[in-house]
Amino acid sequence: MLVHRLNMRVAVAVDVGGTHLRVGLVNESGQIVRKEKKEVGANRRPKDFFQRMAGLIRETAGEKIKEIAGIGLGLPGICNFKEGVVHQLPHFPEWRDVPAARLLAEDFSCPIVFDNDANMAAVGEYWKGSAKGLNNFMMLTLGTGIGGGIFLDGKIWRGDEGFAGEVGHMTIEADGRSCACGSRGCWETYAASQAVPKGTTAETLAKAADGGDSKALAFWREYGIYLGIGIGNLAKITGVENYCLGGSIAKAHPHFMESCREEIKKRTYPRLAQKVKVLPSALGEDGNLLGAASSVFHEVSASL
Ligand SMILES: [Zn+2]
Repeated sequence: MLVHRLNMRVAVAVDVGGTHLRVGLVNESGQIVRKEKKEVGANRRPKDFFQRMAGLIRETAGEKIKEIAGIGLGLPGICNFKEGVVHQLPHFPEWRDVPAARLLAEDFSCPIVFDNDANMAAVGEYWKGSAKGLNNFMMLTLGTGIGGGIFLDGKIWRGDEGFAGEVGHMTIEADGRSCACGSRGCWETYAASQAVPKGTTAETLAKAADGGDSKALAFWREYGIYLGIGIGNLAKITGVENYCLGGSIAKAHPHFMESCREEIKKRTYPRLAQKVKVLPSALGEDGNLLGAASSVFHEVSASL
């Protein structure tokens, strides 16, 4: 039973995906009190998009809108956390240097926190999920691409300009598959849904593997090898020992975890290999919402 405590603060959490926009009302205990989901739709012009988003925020928050602690927003692209500016979103080609915090502030006067969705997922897993209590870990969201959230010394590490964590575009094959970023052989062309053969989906392949289909099992074994190569690289560069896997493909982890772990062992120093742990997300798609809410409660960064 959901217990509503009086005076408990609530935050609005927004998760923008390639196809769906999700808004949740989250309390300070980490309970998602209300949740709404809508399709992003074809019109993705920033101004129109923000108007629709503001409408969904009001609808979800209802009468609580007057007392919310803030709005946390996770977006699938390159965000400037300090300035509240979204530089680039692969699924939203019209967005270039959009002053997102300012656009949302036209409708709401509360603090607004922005971040890349993988960073939000990392904060969510640290608050209520598999990474609880881990002061150093890396979040990897496995979906259309690979998003990375680098969590060091108890907080997100964003790099000098806020562009850190674009791990999906590290090169793992010199003359490999071409990538949407303009390069070739990027990790995400081998270890995200782009690696799935045409005419099928990761979900279908996971179901086929559940039923013992040998081609599907071989696909996931190879997938795990490429995932392990990338994680091995990250572990060697950073010394970070814990990797949390989120995103839709992480659900298939029983089929690729073994080959992934074997590959990490083959490609890292034995002492480091013993320490590296790969942990499936405990929160699934709610992780992004919980991270966005936690950022409001615990990380004041509003740029209004
Ligand atoms: Zn790339």
